[in-house]
Amino acid sequence: MSARLLGISLLIALTSGSVYAEDRQGTLENGLSYIVRQTSRPLGEAEFRLVVQAGELDVSSEKNQGAMHLIEHMAFRNTKDFPNGSLVPFLRSKGFRFGLHLNGATRPEVTTYQLSLSHAKSQDLEDGMNVLFNMAQNVNFESDTFAREKNVVAEEIRLHSDNPWVSAWENGLKLLLSNTNSGRWSFGTADSIKAIDEKEVTSLYQALYRANRMTVIVTGNIDTAAAEKALKKKFAAVRPDDKLAGAPYQRGPWPVPSGIFYAVNPLPDKFNNLISVSLVLPRSDFKTSAGDMQSYQYSLLRYILKQRLGGGIAMDWQFRADGQPMLNWVFETSLDWQKNKGKWPDHFKVLENFENRLAMLIAKPLDQETLDLFKQEYLGSVQQWYATSRNQAKTEAELLQNAAQGLHPWIDTAAEWPLVQAAIAQVDSQKISDMLSGMAKGPRYIQVMQESSHLKTLPSCQVSPVHKPVF
Ligand SMILES: [Zn+2]
Repeated sequence: MSARLLGISLLIALTSGSVYAEDRQGTLENGLSYIVRQTSRPLGEAEFRLVVQAGELDVSSEKNQGAMHLIEHMAFRNTKDFPNGSLVPFLRSKGFRFGLHLNGATRPEVTTYQLSLSHAKSQDLEDGMNVLFNMAQNVNFESDTFAREKNVVAEEIRLHSDNPWVSAWENGLKLLLSNTNSGRWSFGTADSIKAIDEKEVTSLYQALYRANRMTVIVTGNIDTAAAEKALKKKFAAVRPDDKLAGAPYQRGPWPVPSGIFYAVNPLPDKFNNLISVSLVLPRSDFKTSAGDMQSYQYSLLRYILKQRLGGGIAMDWQFRADGQPMLNWVFETSLDWQKNKGKWPDHFKVLENFENRLAMLIAKPLDQETLDLFKQEYLGSVQQWYATSRNQAKTEAELLQNAAQGLHPWIDTAAEWPLVQAAIAQVDSQKISDMLSGMAKGPRYIQVMQESSHLKTLPSCQVSPVHKPVF
């Protein structure tokens, strides 16, 4: 019986596009956005995300710095339906998985919550949504629990403050905000966290945890109609921001400044002398399919640069807090340092080389044959990714989370592939040169992370060659 049914459904899948999962997407009257996506894998699993476009950047008073991180902790610790640490035992009893599968994260611009459910019957879906709803609307900052959680967060910060890599990461985030008037922000210190007042954190929570700043994402091998129905019913009660009259909140976009922005971080590590450089790509307008296509073309550009500008130990996307896309390269220089017996012949040679290689790519566009080869390889890598990762609850939830933050188009798995192909077909070598020269004219964000004792030979940034860009 079941084999026969399987045969029929396969046949339908092959002959009709309409059985592809259709996203159920919308905005509630209170301004909360949601999306529910069916995935075929893993069988029976569901992923939940609550994305709140509020983070430490939104805390204006210096004495409350770090409050958003504290709110994130309290959302797991004490809510109306799950008071005083009862959430974790409840989730365990429901088969929610831990470690990687239950988490919260606070960034300067956004706070995200993640739950992963290993079986998605309708009651479990409703339970998962109720957990997120309590985080969104019903966190309780009652004194005893709050005092205990402040100690937990203060301890986390104390551990981090001893870790120079964490400071370097934070400084990198701050560097990208240079000249944006985005204000001062911080994750706070152990002392400042302990001093945060219960009433003030409550009013910050109520001011910033508004429906208009939120997106709820549910993906998985689920009944999407039932999930959407339950979601609409539950989240209609989240408080709106009346000033926004039901419209979703959007951060930025902030203008892109020009110039070179520079930060230096000492690291107690002789084997990690790193120079990181970020270059800006123009934003894509994801409200149009031309914007979606542009983002796939950037993805091809990244692929080509990865092949052509090798030598960086890492290269990847990076995003400013308002979603401004950038490409980031990290170069390792400690071998050079050792080869030159602790004397830099030219401290920024690595940057100069990088700039020169980029300039050459612009001056001498790729020939057709090479470009075609890159395009083929790139499309092959996308297909491979489809075969291994797409249609999995977790991958789709992550993509949708990026889309909710404005970093990626809202696109259905089934609809994407033809669009990717069309976007790549439009790229000629002139287009690659244009994208590159646009990027080369933009600002540079440079961060030097270096063993402290090597720093004394760091020349002042005024004399570094990179201050005379080759473009
Ligand atoms: Zn934490």
